[in-house]
Amino acid sequence: MNAPRRISILGSTGSIGVSTLKLLDETGVPGRDYVIETLVGGRNAALLAEQALKYRPAMTVIADEGQWPAFKALMDGSGLDIACGEPAVCAAAARPADWIMAAIVGIAGLKPTWAAAATGAILALANKESLVCCGHALIERVEAHGGKVLPVDSEHNAIFQVLDQPERVSRLILTASGGPFRGRSREDLKAVTVEQALKHPNWSMGAKITIDSATLANKGLEFIEAAYLFDMPASKIDVLVHPQSVIHSMVEYKDGSSLAQLGSPDMRVPISYCLGWPKRIDWQAPRLDLAERGALTFAHPDLETFPMLRLAREALEAGEGMPTVFNAANEVCVQAFLERRIGFLQIAEFVESAMMRAQLPSIPSNDHASRDTNDRTMTRALEIDSEIRRLVGELFASARLSA
Ligand code: NAD
Ligand code: MG
Repeated sequence: MNAPRRISILGSTGSIGVSTLKLLDETGVPGRDYVIETLVGGRNAALLAEQALKYRPAMTVIADEGQWPAFKALMDGSGLDIACGEPAVCAAAARPADWIMAAIVGIAGLKPTWAAAATGAILALANKESLVCCGHALIERVEAHGGKVLPVDSEHNAIFQVLDQPERVSRLILTASGGPFRGRSREDLKAVTVEQALKHPNWSMGAKITIDSATLANKGLEFIEAAYLFDMPASKIDVLVHPQSVIHSMVEYKDGSSLAQLGSPDMRVPISYCLGWPKRIDWQAPRLDLAERGALTFAHPDLETFPMLRLAREALEAGEGMPTVFNAANEVCVQAFLERRIGFLQIAEFVESAMMRAQLPSIPSNDHASRDTNDRTMTRALEIDSEIRRLVGELFASARLSA
């Protein structure tokens, strides 16, 4: 009999983390099929403790030091190893494992994902921001250590499933639901509230990615993600609005065939593909009833109303550290929008200003050429991230001065 697979989940208390644990419950027997090596959570001490007591990982880490007393109290008497703080998160991510889910949100996920990349494990990558900021270097780091990156993002997972002859591809087509504001004009979007932006029509996700879906920044990040994952230039990637989220993406080949992957909009489907890879696994997956769904519709994205998609493409084309600039500025602006400090349309305005103000920052090997998989790429990405956070802070301050 095979030894149980050692599984780590970074971001176990989030939307993807919880779905991953649910799927493990449905598809395997703990102790026999898998053991949990590490669980990492941000600040939800109660949920992380509940998960740790249920799955009994070798190590459980809560990132937020402010939550440490509460977490420690909840874990008292459990006999389990626990820790807190960012260094402990990275140490936990670096523990040997066979399969690691990288599902921390935002740039906070970069260092732990980078650490996980050197374990030789299969890296199920949900944290798209780390791929956007470290591109080829991250993928090559995983491969240099004998691991494999599997895309969790539903669009990239779809492409991964149908991409059999990369050299014969004419186009990757990323589908986009269009978010809650599809069909609206810029005028309509002036006064939209946080609550309206948080209501995604098809997917239930964490707050940051839900806002990114409303601005189309999410599709922008996915555009960059696709370019790095599948080694395609921007000119070979298109975005197609498909409000029903049934077709998760497509690959168009030079012989005129297009292959698509279809499924219900449930992240457990792509996660299960990553869990089973290279085989598919049987589970009580949500069935897709196309007759019940009715018409599937398609349209071009409205780049005027949703400039974030255009800005992401420009960042990818500029290369070097510009995707990191886009990502950092977006993260700060999304946070400011969620805190009601800026309006919805200002997210793209500030991101564009930041991209214009930032000198094109160099980074050792976001680019293919130098194949630098050591820490320099990651450290530089974090430096750019901090510089841009400072810059956007200044832009906010001067906007208030002139208001
Ligand atoms: P979420 O906000 O629900 O969860 C994020 C997780 O990260 C939580 O466990 C949180 O505690 C943890 N976290 C936050 N800050 C942390 C820190 N500083 N250190 C350690 N852990 C920290 O987000 P989500 O929707 O699950 O998304 C996670 C990632 O997956 C994102 O990068 C997102 O873009 C990507 N993704 C999500 C979906 C989805 O359907 N939710 C789909 C595709 C891709
Ligand atoms: Mg996606």
